[in-house]
Amino acid sequence: ASPAETLALLDGNSLAARALALAGVQHMFGVVGIPVTSLATRAVAHGIRFIAFHNEQSAGYAASAYGFLTARPGVLLTVSGPGCVHGLAGLANAGANCWPAVMISGSCDQRDVGKGDFQELDQIAAVQPFVKFSAKATDIYQIPRLVFAVMSHAVEGRPGGCYLDLPSDVLHQRISEAEAIRVLAEAENPRVREIGDKINNTDIEKAVGLLRKAERPLIVFGKGAAYARAEDSLKKLIETTGIPFLPTPMGKGLLPDSHPLAATAARTLAIGQCDVALVVGARLNWLLHFGEPPRWSSDVKFILVDISKEEIELRKPYLGLVGDAAEILNSIIREIKDDPFCLGRSHPWVEAISKKAKENVAKMEAQLAKVVVPFNFLTPMTIIRDAIHGEGSPAPILVSEGANTMDVGRSVLVQNEPRTRLDAGTWGTMGVGLGYCIAAAVASPGRLVVAVEGDSGFGFSAIEVETLVRYQLPVIVIVFNNGGVYGGDRRNADEITGPHKDDPAPTSFVPEAAYHTLIEAFGGKGYVAATPEELKFALSESFSARKPAVVNVIVDPYAGAESGRLQHKN
Ligand code: ADP
Repeated sequence: ASPAETLALLDGNSLAARALALAGVQHMFGVVGIPVTSLATRAVAHGIRFIAFHNEQSAGYAASAYGFLTARPGVLLTVSGPGCVHGLAGLANAGANCWPAVMISGSCDQRDVGKGDFQELDQIAAVQPFVKFSAKATDIYQIPRLVFAVMSHAVEGRPGGCYLDLPSDVLHQRISEAEAIRVLAEAENPRVREIGDKINNTDIEKAVGLLRKAERPLIVFGKGAAYARAEDSLKKLIETTGIPFLPTPMGKGLLPDSHPLAATAARTLAIGQCDVALVVGARLNWLLHFGEPPRWSSDVKFILVDISKEEIELRKPYLGLVGDAAEILNSIIREIKDDPFCLGRSHPWVEAISKKAKENVAKMEAQLAKVVVPFNFLTPMTIIRDAIHGEGSPAPILVSEGANTMDVGRSVLVQNEPRTRLDAGTWGTMGVGLGYCIAAAVASPGRLVVAVEGDSGFGFSAIEVETLVRYQLPVIVIVFNNGGVYGGDRRNADEITGPHKDDPAPTSFVPEAAYHTLIEAFGGKGYVAATPEELKFALSESFSARKPAVVNVIVDPYAGAESGRLQHKN
């Protein structure tokens, strides 16, 4: 081909960008470099917003949360070798949380594999433990088909992570426009939607029979129900039957925390005494005490609703319903309609839960009313709650991480809308905060995002405050700065010995670090708050400005507990 003809040809980078746009990708997260820089710039030329990060780990966390928030795979782009390895954290986090995500990495030239090429790694092998599906394009013609394959595998059945490997020689191969149009059209052919097992009507009848006969029924829902957009069905089922409900941390908001049937503030009583529990899109893992005694009664009958058959097989519930949460709930509602039942406010179980919840809320409010300075965790958290949920509140998407900060935040901060809480999740992943904030801001344009996180969680990816400023995202990061992981020096006297005893304790960071100045380095707004007045001012100004800001809240290093609420696991 003449030089002019070669120029008219399309390379693998362009073809991949076109395929991604055609597959409906609207946002990508990542870090550019050899050999994928032009893939990112071409993607932008095709209308995709590329959010360029400093570290693939944080970009990967963003992609995973984006999958949850939008129900479309979050796409992460990385370079080969080390870039791919940094991105694994995001891919793994997506898998652990059952969120759809796709990592696309460049890789070294196929001819040079095994010779110690630049950033060489067997990336297909590296991603294996963390993906549902992976593929390598060994030829430019395969790119469109594989882009569509990773995108659909990520959302099919139980959502999770997928991986596409694009070797640099494939990215530099060229084809004609006519060939490109042909392979893109072949890839785009409407995929036949897998028709899942039909919902078994006998099982729906059984489930309704169990709920109807139960003396102390409970409906538990988790982030799988949130992902399934099951809020309307849940509300209908709960309000027509009068059954109390309990959300998991990221299920919070599907029904408002202030709902009269919410058992959130009576959690111990609700799970300890219920006799039938309908669990929707939530695993009976550590977050739900494995569904085992002593936290649950030994004769509780579980009805599990989950998209994953393996999940049901693993837990061996009394009754398992495999399928989409909203569809199954709708079948249950239809089945009940013929012979409706409702517990009513004066039902002893509903009354017991409501009484206990009111008592616990009153106890908590009494504690929150005590203003403690230097700050403990409760005082600043209460001020944040009031700023978030007060009159004319901005109702932000809330991101939360850190041991004590997340624990205290979960009980103090209120969630009234679905999918407005992102936290460390199933894996207890710390360091997700900035990535989640960026994902939330780009997925919900115009909405305020507020992160409430510990100084250690913030530190994992603090440099991404530059990304906030660069894209001018409306994100306010509130750092609970207690000077370390759990805060301060937590050693007993007999542990402070040996040649390095004068080193700072493993749990401590520089005390009262000026985290707010990090964002100022890039032109963002920083606040330091050590008193209620300073905090109230910082929140009110930054919430109305809707510009990137860091609020550095100085907290007593010894106010929290080591390992937060999970001390028994340490
Ligand atoms: P939580 O942390 O809130 O308890 P988990 O992540 O443990 O929630 O559980 C979510 C569950 O939801 C997973 O087992 C997943 O398979 C399931 N799931 C995902 N999508 C759907 C859906 N559309 N319908 C029903 N279940 C779903």
